[in-house]
Amino acid sequence: MAALAADFSMNRFAQRLAEHSTSLRRARTEILQVNVGKLCNLTCVHCHVNAGPKRKEIMTRETVDHIVDWLANTDIPTVDFTGGAPEMISDFRYFIERVKQLHPARHLIDRCNLTILLEPGYEDLGDFLAYHKVEIIASMPCYSAENVNAQRGDGVFEGSIKALQLLNSLGYGYDSELPLHLVYNPVGPFLPPPQDELEVDYKRELKEHFGIVFNKLYALANLPIGRFASYLRHNGKLEEYMQLLIHAFNPATISGLMCRNTISVGWRGEVYDCDFNQQLGMQWSSNPDMSGLFLWDIDPDSLEGREIMTDDHCFGCTAGAGSSCGGAISSLS
Ligand code: SF4
Ligand code: SF4
Repeated sequence: MAALAADFSMNRFAQRLAEHSTSLRRARTEILQVNVGKLCNLTCVHCHVNAGPKRKEIMTRETVDHIVDWLANTDIPTVDFTGGAPEMISDFRYFIERVKQLHPARHLIDRCNLTILLEPGYEDLGDFLAYHKVEIIASMPCYSAENVNAQRGDGVFEGSIKALQLLNSLGYGYDSELPLHLVYNPVGPFLPPPQDELEVDYKRELKEHFGIVFNKLYALANLPIGRFASYLRHNGKLEEYMQLLIHAFNPATISGLMCRNTISVGWRGEVYDCDFNQQLGMQWSSNPDMSGLFLWDIDPDSLEGREIMTDDHCFGCTAGAGSSCGGAISSLS
């Protein structure tokens, strides 16, 4: 009867996949997501990176050059910059300019917290991003001041509104070459509502009250790691939230998980399956010596079929409609 015994060496997520006779493996790589560091002008409650103004971990120019040199020998079409506030590292613009020189051309995404566009020293950041046709995916956890300020800090809502108006004035949200997407995440331990319905509400409220337009809304669940896990633990809600995620497991989300088509790179050039695994230190390692792998150790043509490293936090990506870098994965029925 040994075959029927539960495998307690597997995490709960891997066990759930096994129950569904499936596994999580990489497909073709479409996105190189680079987390350039933990420096940020904000300290949001839900932050899975524990980012903030005092963090010192940022990418050096040498690492930027290493990454661009590696990228130049691939056909990965999209480079997605995240952090922290990625714009705050001193080589952010250098990085973008170097990627823009590559052939074939690559699509660029900046994951922006909006308020950085108003900080002293960043007055021309919006122009720079528009000039280089960088897509912006911006955090905006609500269209009400109360909820945004509770999650991100006092005054962040007002700053975000000003920044969105600035981006609109540069053509973002209007020009098809300047996409502007917003990211919603819940302010507490619950799942996002249906993305399509929320997008309608966001578009109506932001247009009516502030004259703001944007393209798409991505509704993402908070993963129980980093500062959000500390917040849940502090309030005695961590296991309750885990149970919510586990019970909402939706196998239809598996094929669309971002770890299937994304390589996640850390500020030292180390490689992970996703930004969440990165924050948990789940770095790829080589066989047989198990030393940590860096981007320049990887052959991009040999990754399809590689097994993805999982743990309990992965239930945050497969709950309900699912969450990926591009928002909900499937429709809620
Ligand atoms: S959630 Fe984003 S904006 Fe907020 S502290 Fe983290 S990295 Fe900064
Ligand atoms: S956290 Fe999400 S994206 Fe990362 S490996 Fe798990 S399922 Fe994939």
